[in-house]
Amino acid sequence: MEISEIEVDGYEKVVRCRDQKSGLHALIAIHDTTLGPALGGMRMLPYTSEDEALFDVLRLSKGMTYKSAVAETGLGGGKSVILGDPKALKSPALFRAMGRFIESVEGQYITAEDMNIGIPDLEIVRQETRWVTGLSREAGSSGNPSPYTARGCLVGMRAVMEEAFGSPDFRGKRVLIQGIGAVGGRLAILLKEQGAHVVVCDINEQRVAEMKQSHGFETVPDAGHFSVACDVYAPCARGAGLDDVTIPKLACKAVAGCANNQLLEPRHARDLRARGILYAPDYVINAGGIINVSVELLPGGYDEAASLRQIDRIYDHLKQVFEISRKEDVTTHEAAARLAEQRIAAGRAARA
Ligand code: NAD
Repeated sequence: MEISEIEVDGYEKVVRCRDQKSGLHALIAIHDTTLGPALGGMRMLPYTSEDEALFDVLRLSKGMTYKSAVAETGLGGGKSVILGDPKALKSPALFRAMGRFIESVEGQYITAEDMNIGIPDLEIVRQETRWVTGLSREAGSSGNPSPYTARGCLVGMRAVMEEAFGSPDFRGKRVLIQGIGAVGGRLAILLKEQGAHVVVCDINEQRVAEMKQSHGFETVPDAGHFSVACDVYAPCARGAGLDDVTIPKLACKAVAGCANNQLLEPRHARDLRARGILYAPDYVINAGGIINVSVELLPGGYDEAASLRQIDRIYDHLKQVFEISRKEDVTTHEAAARLAEQRIAAGRAARA
């Protein structure tokens, strides 16, 4: 196994692994460990070049630093990527080699599930390194993060309601959810329990029919759904849905959902603001899952009550973001970055 370092400005450590025997070609990026070891998922994709994989791992690991800083998980940001087609290349030898690669950075990087990586893969990685999170409850780990992400979204939406409507009361408010999968589906149920009028859409028509039948949600077609009138629009399906085409058509007062990377480009935060639409930065409101995972790293191990207490603080984090946005006259997207940077600077000062 050959491990080599790649020098990248602004990153603490970036390493490459090539292992002929297992076919592993992977990268680990540790962006910042000021606030703790770098936690971030492992993804596997058929990147067309190492440069493309490097771009992805750098961007994602930095995002994790900001996400964890705002969420106060006591962790830094990192990410790992395996280059290759998951359908063709996955093997026990590959994941054992990946485990040895992670072990080589001596706990500075802690991994978790991400795109095309499942719990069975991580269980193999775990045979070579203990720096793996998000395994099953039976294994003493924190298990499926989705219900925790949904709860965090609900709590965060209360702060959004206060900011946009002057009250955290969901009763009678129309919430439009795109994507009723693991997180969006759970969020829809929680919102209905709170008295919201829930409208849903999804490309999976069977799922829509099931959720309509069992919970009585109003449904709309996925195509063009963003122009449906509502109080809060919750993107819970995919990233990059907020762009030059959709933003002018939105008929809501706020956007608050769990999907990652909702803005096609950062400038779209300005377009939302210009239209008077309050945007809850995705990585702030969808941090419930990472908070839940971070709790398993505490000295006493995973504790659900401790996790829920920390997840409920997403409300406070969004209140802080909105306050910075108002006071400093910047978008909520920029305000979230400023909050993260403040926390990292405070951590750096405390360590000095
Ligand atoms: P999921 O796969 O369980 O659900 C996604 C749902 O969206 C599915 O029902 C799917 O049919 C639908 N969908 C996919 N593409 C669509 C499209 N183009 N138009 C309409 N519907 C579409 O995923 P999930 O775990 O619920 O995650 C949803 C989003 O939240 C993703 O962006 C994910 O990255 C993000 N997220 C999830 C977690 C978590 O804990 N699961 C944490 C943070 C962020």
